[in-house]
This record gives sequence, structure tokens and C-alpha cells, in this order.
Amino acid sequence: MIMLAGMSLKEIESLMVKLKATQFRAKQIHNWIYAKSVSSIDDMTNLSKDFREELKQIAVVTDTKIKCKQISCDGTIKYLVEFPDGNCVETVLMRFDNRANLTACVSSQVGCAVNCSFCATGKGGFVRNLTSSEIIEQVLAIQRDTQLKVTNIVFMGQGEPLLNLDNVLKALEIFNTDFQIGARRITISTSGIIPGINKLADMDLQSTLAISLHAPNHELRSELMPIENKYSITELKKALKEYVEKTGRRITVEYILIHGFNDTPAVAKELAYLIKDIKCNINLIPYNSVIENDYKKPSNNDVMKFKYLLEHSGKKVTVRLERGADIDAACGQLRGRIAQ
Ligand code: SAH
Ligand code: SF4
Repeated sequence: MIMLAGMSLKEIESLMVKLKATQFRAKQIHNWIYAKSVSSIDDMTNLSKDFREELKQIAVVTDTKIKCKQISCDGTIKYLVEFPDGNCVETVLMRFDNRANLTACVSSQVGCAVNCSFCATGKGGFVRNLTSSEIIEQVLAIQRDTQLKVTNIVFMGQGEPLLNLDNVLKALEIFNTDFQIGARRITISTSGIIPGINKLADMDLQSTLAISLHAPNHELRSELMPIENKYSITELKKALKEYVEKTGRRITVEYILIHGFNDTPAVAKELAYLIKDIKCNINLIPYNSVIENDYKKPSNNDVMKFKYLLEHSGKKVTVRLERGADIDAACGQLRGRIAQ
């Protein structure tokens, strides 16, 4: 069976040639999939009944299912999306009260090989890369379910997008042209895969690059992120400076605050010094306890102190709001629970 979701207008046009249908049909189908987010060919009501029957013999709109859905009282919706091979990933829809934005947080892999010590996804190990269709299916699943249009995308779900870069870039292209979501409204978050960062630096991509830094030196960072032993913070800083030089774009530094570990004033000062000469904004993420370990959430007071010390360096610092605290909305939590 051909899957229509994920096909570009050009691909649908060549399918129409094979079916000896007009090119106008291709535009209609494309519109039903991406603008109206239908889930079946029968919903494409401006196609004749005969043509719909013919199309149904060879194609479906989607083969992806929503296995589980949780709605938080803050409006966050978390989906567990299931693919035909039985693998599932998490996709989260976040709404922000004061803006019309609807942000989808998408996964790029089933599981993750990077194995950061604080992350539920990493604990489950790596299963496989997602295809570009499986990445965009997550956004379509949200749109079909809510009948709303997603306006922003962040690659901050499960998996390491720069270890599945070809498929992520293919999906980005479709988000751009078929969903009409501008590249500036898309953020790719990485644990610091240097070859991927270099590749992005050479492309003229308008998207934002976010770096999960989480610590300002080798000792602390390697305790949290084994990837530090492969791509060290010194090399990473060099790559980030080159990225900024080549693209002119400001990056986002993500920093998880863990009580007593990397949230002290001394560490804040060290971080401020490290990033002083990098064009960046900083996003502080209070640690979310999702798995059994010794890490603790920071106190509000310590978060504000840390923020203040960083702001001293002249950078813009934001604190990520905890979304969906009453559901399993932290990275890897829902999939982990269902899999048990
Ligand atoms: N693999 C990429 C993108 C997915 S993870 C990366 O690591 O950047 C997306 C974000 O969720 C990362 O910044 C990650 O550090 C954060 N995250 C993972 N587990 C978390 C937890 N328990 N509490 C708070 N943030 C977490
Ligand atoms: Fe992978 Fe990102 Fe989780 Fe680290 S934080 S294990 S890189 S998904």
C-alpha cells in the first residue's frame, strides 16, 4: 500500500499520472493531507466516489496510530505514536497561553544511544532511526487529533537528531514546503554531535540549533553525558564558534539544573565564562525526576540565583516552564511506562 502522508506534491502528481488522473487531483489530495489533516481517503469529499474507491485500492492516508494520549491541565498533550512495526515514540503538543503558537516536540529515533544519565530515553537504549515520514507523521497525528495546525517544531523528543541527520533534514524540507512551517520556527536540539554540527554549519539552514550543554567542564559533563568522552567540551566549543561564524546565527544553550550538582554559584560563574564569547541565548531546564537516580530538582531560589549570575554575562536567560507536570510529559517517561 502507498502511504499518502509524507508524500510531496511532486510525488502525488506522479502518482496521479500513473492513475491517469488530472494534476488538479494531486493539489486536492495534498491539501486534504497537510492543510485539512484528514485520516482517510473517504474524508476527501471533493474527490468523486469512484476515484476515491480507485485510490483506496492502492493507497492509505496513514498507517500510524495514536496508542495513548494524556492531556495535562496546562493544555499540554502527550501522545504515544505507534508505527506498523509496533515501535512507539513520544510526541508532545505544547500551547503557550499568551501566544497563538502550537509547538510540537517530535522524536527523531526510537530510543537513543547517547545514554545521558538523567534521561529516561537513554536508559532504554537505542532501537532504530525514524524515517522522514515517521518524523512528519508525528505532526500529522497531532493535527488530525486536534484539527489544529502546528506552527512550531522542536526536535526535543526522543533520540539524537544529529545521529539521524539525513532523515531529519528530509523531514525539515517537508515541514517547510508542504506544511508551510518556516525553518525559523524549527529548532534542532543535540547533545553535541560535532560532525553533525559541522554539517549544519555548511548548510544555509534558517533553523535554530540548540545544544544540550548541561555542565561547563569536562569532569562534570562526562558524569552526565558519556558523549563528552567522544566529543569533548573543548572541541564542542570550537565547533559552536565555527557554526556561529559561518551562519551568523545565535544558538541556544540548554542547561539542566540538578540540585547540588551543577546549580551552584561557582558553576554558574564557570558557565558564564565558558560561553562569554559564543553568540547564544541560554535556556535553563530544572531537572525533572523521571527515573530512579540520586538527582534532585533545584530549589526555585537556586534557579533564580543561577539565572541572575548568568545574566551578568550579558546573555538572555530563560527558564523552561515545566510542561505537563501532572502527566508523564518528561522525556521518555510515557514510552517507558507503557513498555513495562
Ligand atoms: N537528544 C537531543 C534532543 C532530545 S532530548 C538532546 O539531548 O539535546 C531534549 C531535551 O530534554 C534535552 O535538552 C535533554 O537534556 C532534556 N531532558 C532529558 N531528560 C530530562 C530530564 N529528566 N529533566 C529535564 N530535561 C531532560
Ligand atoms: Fe539521548 Fe538527548 Fe536523552 Fe541524551 S538527553 S539520552 S542525547 S535523548
